[in-house]
Amino acid sequence: MANQKDTPNPPSLSPREIERFYTILSQTMPGRSQAAKGPKGQPNPFRTCLSCILSAQSLDRNTALATKALFKLARTPRTMLQLDVAEIATAIKPCGLYNVKAKNIHKFCAVLIDEFNGVVPQSRDQLMRLPGIGRKCADIVLQFAFGIDTIAVDTHVFRVCNRTGLAYGKTADRTADLLQQRTPSWAVPQAHFWLIQFGKTVCLSRSPRCPVCAVNGICQTYKQQVLG
Ligand code: SF4
Repeated sequence: MANQKDTPNPPSLSPREIERFYTILSQTMPGRSQAAKGPKGQPNPFRTCLSCILSAQSLDRNTALATKALFKLARTPRTMLQLDVAEIATAIKPCGLYNVKAKNIHKFCAVLIDEFNGVVPQSRDQLMRLPGIGRKCADIVLQFAFGIDTIAVDTHVFRVCNRTGLAYGKTADRTADLLQQRTPSWAVPQAHFWLIQFGKTVCLSRSPRCPVCAVNGICQTYKQQVLG
């Protein structure tokens, strides 16, 4: 399946097609499991935030190693802030980009203490004021640490949205805005989980399984490139 970098997007899915799309996903993809605890199973919002920062452009197993090493050194914003940036960088080395991430973690703790009295805020806008926390991390923290339903857009969700016509966006943040507007309320709590699983098992990055895809009758890329 060719990508669509140089061609204009076909029309977005209609509300009726979106309903159908989510209905099919709800019947074919696993949703959030009872056991899901969020990024690396962190037990509180502070640690969820730091685990999210560590996960950027890192494989799961490397993020897990870095997360474990970091929380061996300190587990609260104040104790974390007492560490040198270099000390943090050494601990989180397995996850890559460790110098940048170590600086962000240090700044994150400073801003969290100065502006929020050390308590992780429960709004997306406020979360995004914290160094190292972008839209995706903010949505993950809202969903997993605070139980607020959102649809975090990672690389899998972004790809599925842009291929199907569910929510076209040049950036993940734009796609996230559209997705939030277009997803019916009944689907919001599980949409993130369905879309990720769908992207990992059917709408694969390099070789999407279009002929056996349950939504190929709706997908705009499939209609445009295969059906003509
Ligand atoms: S038909 Fe299915 S697998 Fe193929 S691009 Fe569309 S959504 Fe992805």
